This record gives sequence, C-alpha cells and structure tokens, in this order.
Amino acid sequence: MLFSDFMKVEFRQVKAGGSEFRFSVPAADLELEAEGLKFPEPIEVELTATKSGDEVIFQGAVSTLIEAECARCLELFEKQISSKLQFVIQFLDVGGPEDTGDDDFVVLPKTTADYDISERVREAIILELPFKPLCELNCRGLCPMCGGNLNETDCGCTQDKTDERWDTLRQLFGD
Ligand SMILES: [Zn+2]
Ligand SMILES: [Zn+2]
Repeated sequence: MLFSDFMKVEFRQVKAGGSEFRFSVPAADLELEAEGLKFPEPIEVELTATKSGDEVIFQGAVSTLIEAECARCLELFEKQISSKLQFVIQFLDVGGPEDTGDDDFVVLPKTTADYDISERVREAIILELPFKPLCELNCRGLCPMCGGNLNETDCGCTQDKTDERWDTLRQLFGD
C-alpha cells in the first residue's frame, strides 16, 4: 500500500448532486516505473462521485503522457495514455471494512473520513503501459542490412533482397 495524502477522496466533500475530484501527481510519487519508459508529465485523475443510498459511485479517468523508445526503429516518441477508473463504496452503519472479493466494490464503516485512490490510479496506468512500444502501428523499423531507419530513408537494401527471392521463385515455377 502506498502512503499518500495527496490522493485521498474526502467523503464530506461528496455532495448530494455529485461532486468532482481532480488530482495531479508526479509518476514518481506513485512509484510508477517501467523499463524504457518515462513519464514527463504528471498523472492526471478526474473523478465524479455520486451518492446513491448508502453507496457512493465513483467514475472517472486516469491519463498521462509517456515517452518510450520504439521497439522497431528505436526512436523516442511520446504518447498519451488513458484508462477508466470506476468503483463503488458502500457504507455500513456498524462493522466493516469488509472484503467483498470484488476490487471495485469497497465496504467501509460509516465513520470513515476518506479513501486513498493512489493504488487504484497506479494499477490503472500500469494496465495501459505498452508491452512492446511502437511509435506507429505500421512502423517500418530498421533495415536489417544497413541499419537505416526505414520510416525516414529508403536505403534499397531490402528491395534487392526481395527481388532475389522473387527471382528464385520465378526460376522454380518458370515465371
Ligand atoms: Zn518506430
Ligand atoms: Zn538498408
């Protein structure tokens, strides 16, 4: 569990007609790290809290910018990522907190003052991090022959190789 005072939702701030919460925290404060990835901007959270009986429904989104090295062409690129944030807190008159077996359904005693969302936010971001970052889906990568970036240059190496293969096929099948 992370310790953070900066990402706590205070229940007394949740009004009957719904309330909005906004947070902006550096990735380092959420212990967000991933090999080959950087977080040049803070993690932004927008959350709407709505009261419904003895429950409060939280709905919102988490977003940030990542800087990564393309797995194919090795160029650095930036990409905006975002993820939904959704959970329900139910308040009990007596007893609690209870383990509901559902991560998105939290049961707390009525006397609870606030709820730390940092772990939730952290997990939402981790789910969106690319396993194999690509600058573009159709990135052409580097030429295996000369190492040139095929998005920027047409070195011709691959072309020659392809032609050779076609020539062999043509010979085999008599064109
Ligand atoms: Zn690339
Ligand atoms: Zn080449």
